[in-house]
Amino acid sequence: MGDDKTRKYVLPESEMPEAYYNIQADLPVPLPPVLHPGTLEPVTPDDLAPLFPMSLVMQEVSTEREHEIPEPVQDVYRMYRPSPLIRARGLEKALDTPAKIYYKNEGVSPPGSHKPNTAIAQAFYNKQEGVTKISTETGAGQWGSALSMACAMFDIDCTVFMVRVSYDQKPYRRAMIETYGATIYPSPSDQTNAGRAILAEDPDCLGSLGMAISEAVEVAALNDDTKYSLGSVLNHVLMHQTIIGQEAIKQMEMADDYPDVIIGCTGGGSNFAGLVFPFIGQQLRGEANARVIAVEPAACPTLTKGPYAFDFGDTAHLAPVVKMHTLGSTFVPPGIHAGGLRYHGMAPLVSHLLDLGYIEPVALHQLDVFAAGVQFARAEGIIPAPESNHAISAAISEALRCKEEGSEETILFNLSGHGHFDMGAYIAYMGGQLVDYDYPEEEIAMALAGLPVVSVEAVGD
Ligand SMILES: *Cc1c(COP(=O)(O)O)cnc(C)c1O
Repeated sequence: MGDDKTRKYVLPESEMPEAYYNIQADLPVPLPPVLHPGTLEPVTPDDLAPLFPMSLVMQEVSTEREHEIPEPVQDVYRMYRPSPLIRARGLEKALDTPAKIYYKNEGVSPPGSHKPNTAIAQAFYNKQEGVTKISTETGAGQWGSALSMACAMFDIDCTVFMVRVSYDQKPYRRAMIETYGATIYPSPSDQTNAGRAILAEDPDCLGSLGMAISEAVEVAALNDDTKYSLGSVLNHVLMHQTIIGQEAIKQMEMADDYPDVIIGCTGGGSNFAGLVFPFIGQQLRGEANARVIAVEPAACPTLTKGPYAFDFGDTAHLAPVVKMHTLGSTFVPPGIHAGGLRYHGMAPLVSHLLDLGYIEPVALHQLDVFAAGVQFARAEGIIPAPESNHAISAAISEALRCKEEGSEETILFNLSGHGHFDMGAYIAYMGGQLVDYDYPEEEIAMALAGLPVVSVEAVGD
């Protein structure tokens, strides 16, 4: 089917994967334990029960390879899935590269990113266990819009704490969240103890994801009818996203091709994991081989500069402690425009696989990244999310390396979302107002000084 003209590989709905892939089944070394933020001892499922429905807690620790996607979740997925795999013929031509470039377009979902893949699943599992309210945080607004859409579909009340700087800068994301019926507060807010404590010290605080998570977790912890939902980082979230890579494997087969290099941008790690884990799974089972590249912003260099250590997931230390590459839970990254890549930590599964040598990390500056996004838009027509520009930039570098080496490799990357709500960032870029931030060494050193001290007995190594 992959002739020399084909541009998009479209799977019929009947070919949509019917199970999520759980990479924990194939890990050569199991994940370190998750610790309670108060006791720093391993958590039990009961510790997590106030925050998450039991089905998601069990997915979090599961080592079963496949988890069936419930029919009501598949039904909502069919609104926009399977997503197309596109051969970037325009970009290949613009770069004059012998490499073949493919991308999975997750921008086709209604809110415009990959995030509904887990939002829909999480809303379903909460509904199934009788949950009537969900609280969450959002940075740039992508997760808030995905979860509020999913909650509308499963008739659940949704409360969103949006990092204040984005709340002020992104009124259209805010409006989208409210259109889907959710209640939204700028964070830090006066709605929670965590928020009030921060505001007492700094009334003009611009907020951070770590702070917004504290507020959302507090609401769930203090209210019996409310659970918390996270849009990245956790094992079950990454597992829900594996529908992306499983579709991509089938679509690469349609193209009679297989990637030599697979690339994704990493904020908390979910879209990256969603694309690459099914491929790494093939590698772990000895079935195939590819290089895997994780791309992060130089201003928030979690994978390339952060130690692999146990750390708190949020500022107020209410969320569980996990082992991850981290810049410290109090680190507030510079205000780069890829808001979705500004989390202080990285998914434990992604961190673990990096530690085991399955992932190459790179950190890029935002001016180069936007230049790549603009080049992509002019060649492929789609205006990408600033986060996705990181993956595009790395894909272009790989394609140019192939040109230099005269090598006909196949490159696959994830286009995690479109940039229609991020045109402010493009205006700033084209107006010459974007700057590159240096690696904020001193602030990171300060934040890392606050890592929890974990006993060897607690973590068993
Ligand atoms: C949220 C977001 C990201 C970063 O989150 P991950 O969990 O690392 O995927 C990347 N791209 C887009 C478009 C996003 O909305």
